[in-house]
Amino acid sequence: MEASATVTINTLAQAKKAMGERIFNLSAGEPLVETGHYFKNILDWVIEHHQTHYPPVAGIPELRNESANWLNKTYDTNYTAANTLITCGGKFGIYLALQALLNPDDEVIMIAPYWVSYPSMVEIHKGKSVIIPTEEKNQWKVDPEAIQKARTSRSKLLIINNASNPTGVFYTKQELEKIVEVAKKNNLIILSDEVYSGMIYDNNKYTSFGSFKNYSDNIIVAQSCSKNFAMTGWRVGMVYAPEPLIKIMTKLQGQSITGTSIVSQFVALEAMKNSSVIMPEIQKEMQNRRDIFIDTFNELFNANLQKPAASFYAFIPLTALKAKTKSSVEFCKETLDKGNVATVPGLAFGQEGYVRFSFGAKPQELKDALHALANFLK
Ligand code: PLP
Repeated sequence: MEASATVTINTLAQAKKAMGERIFNLSAGEPLVETGHYFKNILDWVIEHHQTHYPPVAGIPELRNESANWLNKTYDTNYTAANTLITCGGKFGIYLALQALLNPDDEVIMIAPYWVSYPSMVEIHKGKSVIIPTEEKNQWKVDPEAIQKARTSRSKLLIINNASNPTGVFYTKQELEKIVEVAKKNNLIILSDEVYSGMIYDNNKYTSFGSFKNYSDNIIVAQSCSKNFAMTGWRVGMVYAPEPLIKIMTKLQGQSITGTSIVSQFVALEAMKNSSVIMPEIQKEMQNRRDIFIDTFNELFNANLQKPAASFYAFIPLTALKAKTKSSVEFCKETLDKGNVATVPGLAFGQEGYVRFSFGAKPQELKDALHALANFLK
């Protein structure tokens, strides 16, 4: 089992920083926007009201309820508290869904470039990953026909990450409709990773798989406060699914992590109550950072990169970086070791020849990092 490449690079970068080196970190998968000030009073309230004991396994009722309302009103879904499980981040929600559903040798169809953790999580649960490649010239989007071709009698699940880490692509409602059709035809459960739903740019509208109500018995939506509310450290995620599956996942959660920190759950509740303020604030800031990142990159590298439509990643070909090597791992190692710029190799996402840059850092840091990279690569 591979350690998560993003976590590994980030840890290496932190270690160099701890040694006193100036590190330009473009590897972290988080929006570095402060939202803590929204939650100060809640922390006092939690202590005053002695809300510091074990939480209910599936989550505090107020948050399960508010999370269902939040998704319903934001993305036109139709979930209740009973369809909602509060987990320790979206990551553990995905993990639990796979643990609940997979039998040995069950096949899980996923699309490359994929989020680094999917194949490893499938492996942990003794399933088999079936990977469908996509290409930049097709905006990294999967052709529903390719899903049909990848399907076998052992196929159980289809993981779709909309919007995508690492490519920044997102699917329209019409495109998702076609994917639902193929899933329906082949009895595939859709595990929809929607943790970047709040970072959709240029006034485009996000569609959740959860809004396809005629297939909702076979759809699981993984969500999170991490990116949408810039709350990565609080570790609160949500899974929306049919009630029988939520019950199984709740048992698994009870026998593994007991539940999600109760303090974090009250904070998440406050975040959701203020979602109409917090989410647009983060979205606007990330769109601004995207523009700064891409404009600066194009200028310094004499390139013509298009602006990613969603999430906060730019998946850049080694050719645009004028790299001397064809290995993304070699490139990232060298730029971190000698140039002090941290990025993540495309290979970790199942796509050689590309490097993932995060533009979640603050604008000045983005500019400084790109200047440092350009100088190093000169
Ligand atoms: N899914 C994708 C595609 C991600 O990029 C991440 C985090 O980087 C997650 C899920 C999990 O995030 P968290 O566990 O912080 O909610």
